[in-house]
Amino acid sequence: MSSKGLSFIRGSSLCFSVRLSRSASTKAARQKIVVLGCGWGSYSVLRSVNKKKFDVICISPRNHFLFTPLLASTTVGTLEFRSIIEPIRNTGFRDEHHFHLSYATHLDHAQKVVQCRSALDPSMTYPVSYDILVIGVGANSSTFNIPGVNEHALFLKEIQDAREIRKRILTNFELATQPLVSEEEKRRLLHFVVVGGGPTGVEFSAEFYDFLQQDLERLYPDERSTVHITLIEANEILSSFDTKLRSYTEKIIKKRERMQILKASVTEVTDTGITLSDGSVMPCGMVVWSAGLAPRSFVNDLNVDKNSRGQILVDEYLKLPSLDSVYAIGDCASVIGNDMPCTAQVAEKQGRYLAKALSRKASTPPPPFVFKQTGMLAYIGDYRALADTSVGKSQGYASWILWRSAYSTKLGSWRLRMQVPMDWMKTFFFGRDTSRF
Ligand code: FAD
Repeated sequence: MSSKGLSFIRGSSLCFSVRLSRSASTKAARQKIVVLGCGWGSYSVLRSVNKKKFDVICISPRNHFLFTPLLASTTVGTLEFRSIIEPIRNTGFRDEHHFHLSYATHLDHAQKVVQCRSALDPSMTYPVSYDILVIGVGANSSTFNIPGVNEHALFLKEIQDAREIRKRILTNFELATQPLVSEEEKRRLLHFVVVGGGPTGVEFSAEFYDFLQQDLERLYPDERSTVHITLIEANEILSSFDTKLRSYTEKIIKKRERMQILKASVTEVTDTGITLSDGSVMPCGMVVWSAGLAPRSFVNDLNVDKNSRGQILVDEYLKLPSLDSVYAIGDCASVIGNDMPCTAQVAEKQGRYLAKALSRKASTPPPPFVFKQTGMLAYIGDYRALADTSVGKSQGYASWILWRSAYSTKLGSWRLRMQVPMDWMKTFFFGRDTSRF
């Protein structure tokens, strides 16, 4: 090799080592933000935060963002599971330093350390240090300590929950067609109960009703008259929506032949049915539980101020008043004196606000977080939806078009924006896939 060539290599390696030490020093100078979770709130921080200014680390037991408003559609196959999730590694969190598939289990703020436990190997526990901590761990479904809910009911929070529900529906239909099954057992297997008349319970019932009408009745003609869906709510269904929209929904559901709304409270869930507060027992083949939220164990164990629902109290800058550089957003948090609904809309806006606020120069303090509701949408089945927006309130087919358009444009990436309409089209032309696995 010529001496000219050698000097070039030496020159470039010198250049490389200078660059390396410079980048190492910038990395060292950058503050380390640790974000817990990759749901609506945290994902919004991860996407918007200035990664040149901060060294950003995400710790979450799942490695994807989940578009929850369309989760109910995957329980019956209107949409496929992978059509509503976005892998976190597509957002730039690729190396072992920046993404950990783990649970945050304990916070030691004096040492500025979060203790973590691997989601793949529970024996693997380790600390991660932070300069700034963002808690966006969401919430669990609340069981209200009702016996049997954890053991026998199905929840609808994550993709694996939707998978379980889809499998149970198809299992029950297949079981009901087996030769030795009695009529009574058939009726039990094909009685599906949804507990909780909030948007999740109503939307799941709606998707299930469509599945029944559009596919199951055609594919299981002998079971047509046996199937029944009961939506149980102790108070009003869709209580966060306008009264007119609520009565419209009730009217539509009451007209449905194989569906009923039951105003009651559940006191026990067993493997063959539910017990109501009047002592009556209702045999059923599946219970989907969607009756409220409860704090995650990480939040439960935090020794900070919380409200009566166990949410972390934060100030108008979303910061914990008692801990320096610790923020909480989304369903796990509540702004002192300004209770906001536990919705994707709130979590996403809080995440975006926080990313922007943290990226500001220290000399320019951020304005407080202000939430402006842009509206609420809910699908009620049979190509009808509700729209409760600041512009107006509407229901029916036009609102369904609005519901679909709003959500398809809100999807986090172009891949999902392509995938979801393709699934909708596939379902419309060919029906839903009823393979059981
Ligand atoms: P989440 O989105 O739940 O994210 C929490 C994250 O924290 C997840 O990544 C989770 O894996 C992670 N995590 C959990 N434990 C730990 C831990 N110990 N350590 C680290 N990470 C952890 N809202 C609307 O506005 N419109 C709708 O149409 C709508 N429809 C919905 C439909 C369904 C079926 C459901 C379940 C919810 C719906 N919501 C809707 C509500 C909305 O999804 C929630 O309000 C929103 O997800 C809250 O965002 P979050 O970031 O607080 O929590």
